[in-house]
Amino acid sequence: MLLRMSTLFLRTLREDPADAEVPSHKLMVRGGYVRRAAPGIYSWLPLGKIVLDNVADIVREEMNAIDAQELLLPALLPREYYETTGRWDDYGDTLFRLQDRKGADYLLGPTHEEIFAHLVKGEYTSYKDFPVWLYQIKEKFRDEARPRAGVLRGREFHMKDAYSFDIDDEGLSSSYERFRAAYVRIFERLGLEYVIVSATAGAMGGSKSEEFLAVAPSGEDTFVRSTETDYAANVEAVEVPAPQALPLDGLPEATEHHTPDTATIQTLVDFLNAADLGRDFSEADTLKNVLVKTREPGSEEWQLLAVGVPGDREVDMKRLEAALEPAEVAVLDEKDFQESPFLVKGYIGPRSLLDNKVRYLVDPRIVTGTRWVTGADRPEHHVIDLTVGRDFTPDGTIDVAEVRDGDPSPDGRGTLYTARGIEIGHVFQLGRKYTDAVELDALGPDGKPKRVTMGSYGIGVSRVVASIVEQSHDDKGIVWPRAVAPADVHVVGTGKGDQIEEALRISGELEQRGLRVLVDDRKGVSPGVKFTDAELLGVPTTVIVGRGLKDGVVELRDRADGGREEVALEEIVERTVRACGA
Ligand code: ATP
Ligand code: MG
Repeated sequence: MLLRMSTLFLRTLREDPADAEVPSHKLMVRGGYVRRAAPGIYSWLPLGKIVLDNVADIVREEMNAIDAQELLLPALLPREYYETTGRWDDYGDTLFRLQDRKGADYLLGPTHEEIFAHLVKGEYTSYKDFPVWLYQIKEKFRDEARPRAGVLRGREFHMKDAYSFDIDDEGLSSSYERFRAAYVRIFERLGLEYVIVSATAGAMGGSKSEEFLAVAPSGEDTFVRSTETDYAANVEAVEVPAPQALPLDGLPEATEHHTPDTATIQTLVDFLNAADLGRDFSEADTLKNVLVKTREPGSEEWQLLAVGVPGDREVDMKRLEAALEPAEVAVLDEKDFQESPFLVKGYIGPRSLLDNKVRYLVDPRIVTGTRWVTGADRPEHHVIDLTVGRDFTPDGTIDVAEVRDGDPSPDGRGTLYTARGIEIGHVFQLGRKYTDAVELDALGPDGKPKRVTMGSYGIGVSRVVASIVEQSHDDKGIVWPRAVAPADVHVVGTGKGDQIEEALRISGELEQRGLRVLVDDRKGVSPGVKFTDAELLGVPTTVIVGRGLKDGVVELRDRADGGREEVALEEIVERTVRACGA
């Protein structure tokens, strides 16, 4: 490959685009890799297309290496497929829906589980046909509420989506491990710093699912890591270790106290500490009961749910929603409180919750034998030493309190701290949700039909390109890892003599040696502009054919470490080939 900048369809920009906030968006636009066509919709220009293909090729090689087979399915899909699984509606506003000339409903595929399941059903019938692993790399369409950061969150974007089909659960687990291992190889080869986090809370959520997050401050996903181990998890999936239950005997009786003007935790703690009760109280000694309402899918009826957490923590709504999924959650309004007069705002205690049959779930730290200061179910009154397992027994536990920096790591070593990441891949044991919907069966050895089980595995190929830039850039531009760079070497010819001819000659030789070469052979462009462009574009190795040429020397530069070296003209081809690791 030899690309000449004199004719390349490329115009770099000196200014950041006005709508860009994150580095990858700024640099990919300034470097002429992409251009915005509409909100969340981007054109890939020649250099961008090369990088995108390089990423796709690595993904493809590793998919082929695990015997996944590449297909290409349509993006334009009739409504019926998504109707059978309910996703025509469930996808909500994110789905692009359209009609053909006859008025029939279509959609632009946001992900392809239905149609892959349908396809396999049409071709395969026997248990002997399975397992089968299929994938494609193509554009996906989602009308994202907030398209942002260039190609990081597009409305049209490139995804590798793969699907496994197995005859039983063991098969599904082994397919899952197979893809997961391939993902590890892919992201290693791409040179990304990433973590694998479990995406669903093991206890409540259905099947196994993990996300691959590229570590980047601009990421939208928050996760926690341990200071000492490689433990990492989505905040939604952190499982707080439950302390040992404590013995009940010998504990003081619960006592009720008049506590005027103590509707907030802080005023309560201040009051108790001023009241001379023989010990000090902190917010962590109080039990706060947060009321919400939940509704099961398909039901009209809202049900009350009380969540008990230590008073020094808030309920994390995202964790709560994840824990209760697929049920909906909402906060109570005035009317709800009026309908349940036993709920005394600011003074809600476990007793009236349980007496009135409100489902009551508590934080895992609230174990048998722990005693709490909590509401006494009448205004301006609290109970002290209300003891779990003696004075009240909750309906169960729910792990939805906020996770904080410094909390102990669930694996027992180190403490947690929060970091941000970009979801670049997702592996998911779907189970039989989609195969049930399309009734995908295979005849077992006994001649009886068996429901096939499915996994789905996505990588955001275009998002990966931007994630690489997020992790690999400096104030001058992009620093491409060699594996995905648009070229191996950028040869810059600059000066008033025959530097450009010489640059072209060297480029030709480098190309012959198998390198992918970008050459700056533009006439009438200043050296400063050419150097600035080279740094912005971010090709790993640069050869400068400039003023030194009359003395028989050229310069070899390394984009990543900034290293510069004068090299004799006769040696430049060999040295460059070596620098490029070819
Ligand atoms: P997110 O939570 O970021 O919206 P998702 O969980 O909805 O992503 P999946 O359905 O798991 O995404 O899709 C598989 C992969 O496709 C994701 O891991 C991500 O890398 C990529 N992806 C998803 N949505 C977009 C988008 N709008 N733009 C670019 N890539 C995307
Ligand atoms: Mg996902």
